[in-house]
Formats: sequence, C-alpha cells, structure tokens
Amino acid sequence: MSGHTTGSPRPGAGPGGPASPYDVVVVGSVNADLVVRVARRPAPGETVIGSELATHPGGKGANQAVAAARLGARVAILGRVGSDGHGEFLREALRADGVDLGHLIETPGPSGVALISVGSDGDNSIIVSPGANGRLSEDDIAAAEELLSSAPVVCLQLESPLATVVAAARAAGRVVFNLSPPAVVPDELLEACDPLVVNQHEAALLLGSRDTPERQARELLSLGPRSVVLTLGADGAIVADADDVTVVPSPRVEPVDTTGAGDAFTGALAWRLSQGDHLVAATSFAVRVGAASVRRHGAQSSYPRIGDLETL
Ligand code: ATP
Repeated sequence: MSGHTTGSPRPGAGPGGPASPYDVVVVGSVNADLVVRVARRPAPGETVIGSELATHPGGKGANQAVAAARLGARVAILGRVGSDGHGEFLREALRADGVDLGHLIETPGPSGVALISVGSDGDNSIIVSPGANGRLSEDDIAAAEELLSSAPVVCLQLESPLATVVAAARAAGRVVFNLSPPAVVPDELLEACDPLVVNQHEAALLLGSRDTPERQARELLSLGPRSVVLTLGADGAIVADADDVTVVPSPRVEPVDTTGAGDAFTGALAWRLSQGDHLVAATSFAVRVGAASVRRHGAQSSYPRIGDLETL
C-alpha cells in the first residue's frame, strides 16, 4: 500500500504513479432496482397485488460513480453487468452521465438486481440478487492494476465479493471505503481506508454498541483506518483523524426521499478528495450534495449537478 498524508493534494495523479485520466475510480456494484409499491407486504405464502413496476439504475458502486460524474469528476467504474436486458440498460445509464465503461465487463447470465417493495409507510424492503456483481474477481483487479494504482481516489463498497474488495484496496493508492452493507472485514482493509465512511447504523454494528457520534467516530478510528467519516443523516457528518474530531453540519432541507443519500455523499467526497481538498473541506461539500439529493425522489435521479448546489 502506498503511504500518503491525509488530505494531501494530489489532483490528477495517483501516489507516485503516472497521471491518471480519471479523478475517481469506483470498484463496485451495478444493479437494476425493480420497485413496486404495495399497500401492505405479503405474509409468507400470500400474494398481494402491487403498483406498476418501475426499473431504475442503482447499485452502490454505480450510484457513487454517477454522483461524482454529475458534479464534474472524471470517473471510471470497474464492475460487471450481465448479458441480460438489464445489462444494456445499466450501461446506458452510466454512459449518459459520462462514466467511463472501459472496465465494465459483460458477464454471461443475469445482472445484479435489487427487488424493492415500498410500503404505504414509505419504508423499503429490499432483496439483492448479486448476479454479475458476484463474479467481480481478484483477476479482474489484477488486470486493472494500473487503473487502480494511478487513480487519485479509488472508491469501494461491499456489494462485491469481499476478497475482490480487499484486492482492490491493496492495488489502490487512496481508498475511500464505504463499509456498506455492514460486514466483518479484515484489518488490512480497514487500515487502507482514508477515510472509512459509515452511517450510524453501520457504526453501531461495527462497534457492537451505541454511543455519542463523537465517541463512535473515535472508536471507529481506533479500528485502524487513517481517517473516519461518520454520516448522521439530517445532522451532517463527523470527521475523525489522528489530529481532530470535527462536526460538519448539513444544510437544513425538507427531505422528500433519502434513498441513495449515502452514495451521493460518498461520490461527492471522493471527487473533492481527488482534487486535493482536506478531508473536512471535502466533507463540507459532500453534506451539501447529500442534502440536495434528499430534496428529490429516487437515488441517481436525485443527484445534483454542481449548479444545483447554489441554492444550498
Ligand atoms: P441512505 O441509506 O439513505 O442512502 P445513509 O443512511 O447511508 O443514507 P445518512 O447518514 O442518512 O446515510 O445520509 C448521508 C448524508 O446525506 C448525510 O451526511 C447528509 O449530508 C445527507 N442527508 C441525509 N438525510 C438528510 C436530511 N434529512 N437532511 C439533510 N441532509 C441529509
């Protein structure tokens, strides 16, 4: 792993490597979100009739890639989509936002899918079928070593196989790791993070206890990452590194749908870090992007362009 200082400016080039054509490389999932609204959820063995099906591009990797690209970042995604109809739909959605698809590998079989039922209370129940995402392999990482080592920032999440994510962290310079969905991960992966990004739910699971956000952030730091960003929903985020713990408040907005807010935040954070921002400055920008995203419906459909932030 290449050493570097938290928040050191390295725009346009990875640590010591050749200049990268990308600001951010995302290694991660690309899913079709299949959404049906229901008056109530079926009990086991029961059938209920829902609304018309809506299909949206999603997956944590794709969401973070689109969030960064829409703000102006040069982004590549390393992932896999299936050879089914969803594969082309998902590729097209990423292409429309200017994400480079040279490392998005078509895989025989189904694409990743999230089956989402939205109840009358607005709450989601989600089943994810990883499909092609589950085939993203350590060999895929080895084949993209230069892409990863030269990128200023590599963004990782956990909707890809853990061994693949660990290999990607090993190959990367600066790693922004969104430990979501929550899981036990090796120390090596935690130690590569700069920062580790989690929400309060994920933090509580990782730490096995609830505490004040400030103390949680410090405890997360003691697990080994170089820095931590703990997101706090409407309350913004907390940044912890070896020097300080800093609260970064969010602008007050009227939320209509928080789906994908965490991915909007992480994509924005990765982009600002790639431009050399200090972690606290990058987080101040990312909370504005997260807040903008909750003012609109959907995940990717809610992500702002840079001009949309002026009103915040
Ligand atoms: P999600 O699962 O909804 O994608 P998350 O649980 O991973 O999100 P949160 O901490 O809820 O993450 O939100 C991430 C960021 O989005 C916050 O740090 C904040 O910037 C913004 N955000 C989320 N909810 C709100 C809100 N109600 N008002 C303003 N900003 C918000």
